[in-house]
Amino acid sequence: QAKRAGRGTFRYYTEALTQAAQQRLQLDGRLRRALERGEFALFYQPLYRLADRQLLGLEVLVRLDQPGLPPVGPAEFIPLLEDNGLICELGAWVMRQACLQARAWLDEGLDCGRIAVNVSSVELLRDPSIERIRHALDEAGLPASRLEIEITESGLMQAGSPAEEVLHRLRAMGVRLAIDDFGTGYSSLAYLKRLPVGKLKIDRSFVADLGDEACHGSALVGTMVAMGRGLDLAVLAEGIETEEQLRRLVALGCEAGQGYLFGRPAPAPLARQWLPPLQHAPAQGALASVWPD
Ligand code: C2E
Ligand code: MG
Ligand code: MG
Ligand code: MG
Repeated sequence: QAKRAGRGTFRYYTEALTQAAQQRLQLDGRLRRALERGEFALFYQPLYRLADRQLLGLEVLVRLDQPGLPPVGPAEFIPLLEDNGLICELGAWVMRQACLQARAWLDEGLDCGRIAVNVSSVELLRDPSIERIRHALDEAGLPASRLEIEITESGLMQAGSPAEEVLHRLRAMGVRLAIDDFGTGYSSLAYLKRLPVGKLKIDRSFVADLGDEACHGSALVGTMVAMGRGLDLAVLAEGIETEEQLRRLVALGCEAGQGYLFGRPAPAPLARQWLPPLQHAPAQGALASVWPD
């Protein structure tokens, strides 16, 4: 009897696994076609200083844009592209498009602030990644200081010291660096201190738990804000959805944020509405004083 139940369970698992593998294979094919046909799109989400809702920049978020097919988010397809190596191809496309879009806005007299592009640590470790970023900036004629690269804390921890070396080279180029999904990746204070990063982005799971006493939500966020302060880093909270979360974050000393409360990711023609006019001299308008390195 027990043996039979065991077999049944085994069969159930193999079927489930086969199904998962098949779905993966299907998505893999879909992604390859999307890369060939240019069926990805970029969305932009505003990043604000909380004190006065001044726009600090826009985060660039990639979307699959294949009409008639079920939507799949980047949280699902980026890991797959990291596994099959195609992340470099997508990453290069995203970087190029993002830099060109920022340039186009600046040419229109609109201040997009810093353009924040997510870069996978897998991509970062591939050899021509730095040259590709340099090339994207040069082609668009975008100052490196207008670009911020977001690397997840967990990706960074996995990639180890080779990634650190790349970060130092990027920072030397003038590119700004942010640690994404901060609080989920177990980095140490000592580690953060030796990285050339300028910003911590508190993962949205902590923002969601802010009012929850049982999870010590406020204590955790407060500690992360204090860590950022202690290391002279800017701190931004992700996933702000309610006025209550905003109020708590401000009370905890968090200076910047993004989230549905301020604006959902939107395609470029809609994101345009968030951009203030460009202030000429001094060099980078208000940005330089607002956003410390
Ligand atoms: P992320 O970098 O942490 O980006 C923030 C995610 O939170 C985005 O999800 C955004 O749409 C979502 N979000 C923003 N505000 C709110 C809010 O108030 N509530 C909630 N519930 N969610 C909010 P998205 O666009 O699905 O992207 C997921 C992840 O995929 C990103 O997380 C990033 O790690 C990755 N990703 C996105 N675009 C790229 C890309 O071009 N390259 C790479 N390598 N990764 C990317
Ligand atoms: Mg990000
Ligand atoms: Mg994030
Ligand atoms: Mg996140």
